[in-house]
Amino acid sequence: MEVNLGLNFCGVNFPNPFVVSKVPPVGDVEIIAAQLEAGWGGVILRNASLNTAAGKQTITALRGKAPLYRGVDYEEKRIIDLGWIEPQAPISVEEAESSIRTLKERFPDSVVIAGMVGTSREEWLKVSRRLSQAGADMIECDFSISNGNSADVKTVIAHDLKLMEKASRYVREGARSTPVILKVPGTLPEREMIVETLKEAGANALNLFYEPKGVPGINLTNFIPFPNVGGKSTLSIMGGAAIKPYVLGILAEWGIANKRLGLSVLGGAYNWRDCVELILMGASILQFHGAVLQRGVRFVDELKSGVSDYLSEKMISSVEKLVGKSLPYFVTEENLPRSSLVAAAIDEEICTHCGICYQICEGLGYHAINFSDQRKPMIDKKKCVGDGLCVAACPVFNCMSLRRVSR
Ligand code: SF4
Ligand code: SF4
Repeated sequence: MEVNLGLNFCGVNFPNPFVVSKVPPVGDVEIIAAQLEAGWGGVILRNASLNTAAGKQTITALRGKAPLYRGVDYEEKRIIDLGWIEPQAPISVEEAESSIRTLKERFPDSVVIAGMVGTSREEWLKVSRRLSQAGADMIECDFSISNGNSADVKTVIAHDLKLMEKASRYVREGARSTPVILKVPGTLPEREMIVETLKEAGANALNLFYEPKGVPGINLTNFIPFPNVGGKSTLSIMGGAAIKPYVLGILAEWGIANKRLGLSVLGGAYNWRDCVELILMGASILQFHGAVLQRGVRFVDELKSGVSDYLSEKMISSVEKLVGKSLPYFVTEENLPRSSLVAAAIDEEICTHCGICYQICEGLGYHAINFSDQRKPMIDKKKCVGDGLCVAACPVFNCMSLRRVSR
C-alpha cells in the first residue's frame, strides 16, 4: 500500500515528520545541508540572537577541556541514553539569515525552522522579522533559556506565563504570517491556561521538551561518575530512549489539555517504533538531537522505512491519520474503567517454563500460579487478583496477558 509520510503542520508542508534540532552545535550550514540531503523533513537552526558574544566566549573557553558527552550503558549494551553538559550558544542574526537563504534555495521542499531567543521587546520583534523576511518556514522561540547565554532557572522565560505571553505577541508581530512554535518544558503545570494564553498571543504550536538532569553512570574501577572532566563530574542533561516513557506521559497530559495548538516534541525517540508511539500520543513533528549525533544523518532512512512499513501493514494511508490516535484511550487515574475483572493467562505454545511468573506470584503472597513437576505454570483464576506483575516480568514477549474473567 502506498503511504504518505508527509504532513501539514500549522500550514507548513513537511515531507516527513522527522526534524533535526540544532545539530551541529556550531551551526555549520554545510552539515545542515547534508541532513536535508539525507532526507530529514526539516531542520531547526541554532537560536539567533542580537547578543552572541557571551555565549561564544563560553564555548571557546570550554573547547578541548572537557568530554561533554557520555553514553549510558545498560547490561553492556550501548547506548540507551546520552548525557551531556554542552553549553548553549546563539548564532548571530546574519548567520541565521544566510543559512536560511542558502538552505531554502537548495532545498525548497524541506522545512527550515529558525530558532531564536530574546531578552527585550526590540530583540524578539527585530529578530523574528528578519528571520521571517529571510524565508524561514517557521520560527521557534526558545523559552527554555533566558538569552542564550544563561541556564539560570530563575531567568528562564517559560517559568513566567506573562513573559511568555509578551514575547509571543512581539514575535507574532515581527514574524507576520510565518508560523511560530514556542519551545517550552513539557513539565510545566496549568497546561490549559498556558495553551489558551499563548494561542491568544499568536502562537501556532508548542515544542515540548524534557531534559532531566542526571548522572549517566559510574566508572567501577576508579569510582568517578561520568562524564569525567579532569577527575570530577557534574549533572548531565539526559536524553534518548530512557526518557521515552516520560515524554509519552508529557504528550498525553498536554494532549488532554490542548485542543488549539500543534504539538512537536524533542527527544524520546530512538527507533521507528518510538516515533510511532510519540505520534500516536499526539506529536505531529518529532525533533531529534542526540540520536543524530550518535547515529549520523542516515538514521532517518531507518525511521522512514519503519514508519512506512507500519502504516502499510495497518492499512493507514498517511502519518497525519496517526496523530493522536491513542489519546482517546488515555484518561486520568480516577476515570479508569474498573468495572471488569481480569486474570493472568499464559500462551502455552511459547512458554519456556522458566518459572519466573510462579516465583513472583509466590513472593506477592497470592499463590495463584501452580507450577507442576513438569514445570508447567497454571493460573488459578479464583486466586489471581489481576495485578499483572507476572505479565510485566515474563521474559517471553507476549507470552502472558491479562484477560477478562467472570467470577
Ligand atoms: S514467566 Fe513466562 S515463560 Fe516463564 S514460566 Fe511463566 S509464563 Fe512461562
Ligand atoms: S496477575 Fe498477580 S495474582 Fe495473578 S498470577 Fe500474576 S502475579 Fe499472581
